Amino acid sequence: MKNEKNFVKQIIIFTIISLVSILVLNAVIMPQFGKRSVKDTNYSFFLNQLDEGNITQVKIEDSEIRFEVENEDGKTQIYSTGRMDDPDLVTRLHKDKDIIFTESFEESNLLLEFLVSWVLPIIFFIILWNVLIKSMSKRMGGGNAMQFGKSNAKIYVKAQTGKTFADVAGQDEAKEALVEIVDFLHNPGKYAEIGANLPKGALLVGPPGTGKTLLAQAVAGEAEVPFFSISGSEFVEMFVGMGAAKVRDLFKQANEKAPCIVFIDEVDTIGKKRDGNFSGNDEREQTLNQLLTEMDGFDGQKGVVILAATNRPESLDPALLRPGRFDRRIPAELPDLAGREAILKVHAKKIKTEENIDFNAIARATAGASGAELANIINEAALRAVRNGRKLVNQSDLEESVEVIIAGYQRKNAVISQKEKEIIAYHEIGHALVAAKQKDSAPVHKITIIPRTSGALGYTMQVDEGEKFLMTKEEALARIATLTGGRSAEELIFNTCTSGASNDIEQATKIARAMVTRYGMSSSFDMIALETVTNQYLGGDTSLACSPETAHKIDDEINSLVKKSHEKAVSILTENISKLHELAHFLLEKETITGEEFMDILNKEPAISM
Ligand code: ADP
Ligand code: MG
Ligand code: ZN
Repeated sequence: MKNEKNFVKQIIIFTIISLVSILVLNAVIMPQFGKRSVKDTNYSFFLNQLDEGNITQVKIEDSEIRFEVENEDGKTQIYSTGRMDDPDLVTRLHKDKDIIFTESFEESNLLLEFLVSWVLPIIFFIILWNVLIKSMSKRMGGGNAMQFGKSNAKIYVKAQTGKTFADVAGQDEAKEALVEIVDFLHNPGKYAEIGANLPKGALLVGPPGTGKTLLAQAVAGEAEVPFFSISGSEFVEMFVGMGAAKVRDLFKQANEKAPCIVFIDEVDTIGKKRDGNFSGNDEREQTLNQLLTEMDGFDGQKGVVILAATNRPESLDPALLRPGRFDRRIPAELPDLAGREAILKVHAKKIKTEENIDFNAIARATAGASGAELANIINEAALRAVRNGRKLVNQSDLEESVEVIIAGYQRKNAVISQKEKEIIAYHEIGHALVAAKQKDSAPVHKITIIPRTSGALGYTMQVDEGEKFLMTKEEALARIATLTGGRSAEELIFNTCTSGASNDIEQATKIARAMVTRYGMSSSFDMIALETVTNQYLGGDTSLACSPETAHKIDDEINSLVKKSHEKAVSILTENISKLHELAHFLLEKETITGEEFMDILNKEPAISM
């Protein structure tokens, strides 16, 4: 947007500069050439000159006589005068043998003059302008700035993206659907024979970083057909109608190159629901309308397949999703355990690792991580190995980088007083103990009180044994109790509470709220949806759908859920207070302890029995 505003400004400035320079050129330099411009004069001057024999050429027209006069110093000048009723004129002119009757002597001159003074400078400036634009757009790294209303879709042909389906781990359903599309483009006859119509469009949906763009690139790599790739935001233009023109141009190109694939990334930027009010975005709506028209317009048999990706499918215009347009939805979900392990392995191929790395352990520790985050973990591990002067990445690099992604880098030089350290240690052991003493809770994997750049002063990592798809009510309650365990320990030991529990409180509330409003797990409401999720793939914001009185009751219900869990946590810690002391001191001394160390201490008989 900003660029284009600047661009228009530049055009105006440039035009003004060019015009002024041309005028100056004409005023200063052209008089040199201007000797042969035509001067008006009267008939008697003509006769005079004729008598004196100065006229060299003459042209007689119906109402005008033009003639060329040569001065003593050899310079010539063209004059023009009206024609009088003078029957003797021709005979008189004939007497002077030097006079040439000419067809046109000044016309060619006029043309030349016009060329020199106007056309040449304009051509010169246009060339200069083009050179400027080219160098400018090169500097900006973009395409040609002159190309308003032209789609700047990149065209890939086979393997130019360098990605294939082998680069995409997990996402088997998505791959399967896309393989079919690629196959259709390779041999459409097979499908036409049986009378099947292939989808015109497929929409890749899923949270950020799950490999939607990567999948499309893989399709480009696999398909032996041209692949147009463009991002939705590239259609958004300053001028109304430009976006629509780009869509038209894109589809025109695609039609010429069929069979081919068109990929529109982040399609929600243009495909948002059109709303009834007039304050709507005209430009975007026109672009969307054009897209709808184009999708209907082309022949399904011809083999243009349109892929699009978005992480906000709920915001798309329903017209875009109806059969015949993006009727096929290809989900790219967050990877499950097996998927995470596979993604880690795919990316680990690019780096040098020690043998027998346990990727499964890393995958288990990264529940909920997207493909992009996993790729980042691998890279972070490689960076750590280099930092530590090693040639190969080992298991501990990977484990540490998981924590870096979760909690940020270690703040080695953070100064924390002994007293605060003690509180933090008890807080973390509080979490861990409550987790360990409940059967519906995931095992403790690691406890640390080394502060992190994210602001966490310590944390307790729990890792499930396997993949979990459901959460039972008991697990949810156990989770809340575990989250309150930190605060409970502070209360029990130091008889105070600290701000360190803010994140725990946030998480506990979130779970409790979901239990009441979405999972029907509370005692006072039945299976009623009190909240709906508004954007599933981006943080899962919810909106309340109930009366204010009910909202009030929900809050009470949440409070009582958390309260009960908190009480439970306190009672667990009270029962195990000697272990709490022992473990907290062990942690204070070691700063980081593993799940095994933790369980060893927890399970061993008290050394001194009273
Ligand atoms: P988005 O879904 O937001 O478009 P991208 O396709 O841009 O996500 O993914 C970003 C990066 O994450 C990819 O370049 C790739 O390195 C990694 N990635 C994501 N999903 C996968 C996957 N399934 N397999 C391998 N790498 C993946
Ligand atoms: Mg993307
Ligand atoms: Zn805590």
